[in-house]
Amino acid sequence: MVVPVPVKGYFEENTYFWIDEDSGSGFLIDPGWEGDKLLRMIRYNGWTIEKILLTHGHFDHMGAADQVREALGIPVLAHENCAAYLENPKWNLSVFCGTPILVKDVTTLEDGDTVALDDRPDASFRVIHTPGHTTDSVCYYCERDGLCFTGDTIFRGAIGNDRFPGGDRNRMIRSICTRILTLPDETVLWSGHSEETTVGEEKRFFGPWGGWLRADGD
Ligand SMILES: [Zn+2]
Repeated sequence: MVVPVPVKGYFEENTYFWIDEDSGSGFLIDPGWEGDKLLRMIRYNGWTIEKILLTHGHFDHMGAADQVREALGIPVLAHENCAAYLENPKWNLSVFCGTPILVKDVTTLEDGDTVALDDRPDASFRVIHTPGHTTDSVCYYCERDGLCFTGDTIFRGAIGNDRFPGGDRNRMIRSICTRILTLPDETVLWSGHSEETTVGEEKRFFGPWGGWLRADGD
């Protein structure tokens, strides 16, 4: 099950728990702020959180990662391009919004990697590299549950911002059209800053762009 947790710091962001209901184990996705609240929720529900997954290295998606990691003794996972963001307060944007934030010692992931629960290999996510919003953007797709955490790559009725360091609008559109909208229509998309949506719903917005990409031979 997915438990969305809106957290508020400099602005609002959607943090998510993904919990395997049979085992009570799961992952924490994009802990942006309010680490105390996230830790209270974990204790109250008796969940075992095995890993922290980051969709990209912007500060509003990882500001509470170190606090939760240290409290639980668990690893932080992110795409192999993440150091450019996590170790640079200008690229992760934290320097412009108050306190510079760094996250180090991250376990890196590549496109196509699988992230599974320790004792439940069927409860797993596939890493889909979707550059465009940032060079380290990934989506985490769980085929078993028919859901995908998309970070800031695609929202309900919108796509990510391409004006930050490493941003590239054409790459983002290509990522969305070739890696996300090719998932089954019923796949539920959970983003960093909107309500949930589905692949089928978002395809309505991408007809012309998808056609343009195909016509361009991309
Ligand atoms: Zn972002």
